[in-house]
Amino acid sequence: MESPKKPSELFLKACDNVVGGSGMIQHCQCGRVTFNPDTTWDWEEGEMDEYLDKAEKDPDRYIETEYAPSTIMLDGKDFVIGCPCNALAIFEGLFWNSRRLIAEYLKLKAEDIADRAKTETETAAKTVDAVHKIEGE
Ligand SMILES: [Zn+2]
Repeated sequence: MESPKKPSELFLKACDNVVGGSGMIQHCQCGRVTFNPDTTWDWEEGEMDEYLDKAEKDPDRYIETEYAPSTIMLDGKDFVIGCPCNALAIFEGLFWNSRRLIAEYLKLKAEDIADRAKTETETAAKTVDAVHKIEGE
């Protein structure tokens, strides 16, 4: 999954706010590997040199960054935030173009959760009343 269009800065910021994973090496669903040699995590012996070598030989697939790369999981797949595949732009387009449906679903879901919580609260109150009656007898 790749897109010629980049996701907006606003969408990337939203992804960053709910980020799934961050670390020295992240794998994107597109097959690219993003890594940061400056992270404080422990590299295994020779591992960093191996990635730097791969980045020199295949710079489109192995991407060195100056920040700890992060991923977000969508549809069961990891997407590296800022990866050149720009696949997150596809989700941004889907979410924005479906915003009325998404907003309606979230509203109905929230109402359903609130209704069930109210029912649970009423059941708990009836149970407490029943216990008090038994204890009072
Ligand atoms: Zn990617």
